[in-house]
Amino acid sequence: KSGFVAIVGRPNVGKSTLLNRIVGQKIAIMSDKAQTTRNKIQGVYTTADTQMVFIDTPGIHKPKHRLGDFMVEAAYSALREVDAVLFMISADEKRGRGDDFIIERLKNVSSPVFLVINKIDKVHPDKLLGIIEDYTSQMDFAEIVPISAVEGNNVEHLMETLITQM
Ligand code: GDP
Ligand code: MG
Repeated sequence: KSGFVAIVGRPNVGKSTLLNRIVGQKIAIMSDKAQTTRNKIQGVYTTADTQMVFIDTPGIHKPKHRLGDFMVEAAYSALREVDAVLFMISADEKRGRGDDFIIERLKNVSSPVFLVINKIDKVHPDKLLGIIEDYTSQMDFAEIVPISAVEGNNVEHLMETLITQM
């Protein structure tokens, strides 16, 4: 099985931490060369029967000017070409305008969108249900996966769930 996965989310939610955990240091160095105009290969996850290419869609944030606007739309159009999108949020931060901006764009994406709730090590488990309700009131997600990228909790489950989308 092989496929492409895009990771989107506000700055500091833990996207790079998750990628480093999944693909390891070697690949992260390689990725700088593998650059295209619309997206950037961040790493490749390879097992005996799976190859998963993770891409970063640059400039996915609230644009400050019209050129920025154009670039953001181009980045989102790249999301139509992937097999799955990971929308990453941080469990210890409230949903904000940055998240809402991303959610509005993700509504037009046909690939399955996973809600990845990161940093669960920083919050009491009782908080999780409220977070899930808050986000699912905004859009439907193909899967909801709480993780800790730093501690590795549930990352294996995330990978198994992703593989089913390839
Ligand atoms: P990015 O901007 O989305 O790529 O976020 P980074 O991966 O650079 O992470 C931002 C900060 O959050 C760093 O200090 C990470 O160590 C921290 N971080 C990432 N994932 C977790 C997590 O699961 N738990 C905790 N406690 N901190 C995390
Ligand atoms: Mg990063």
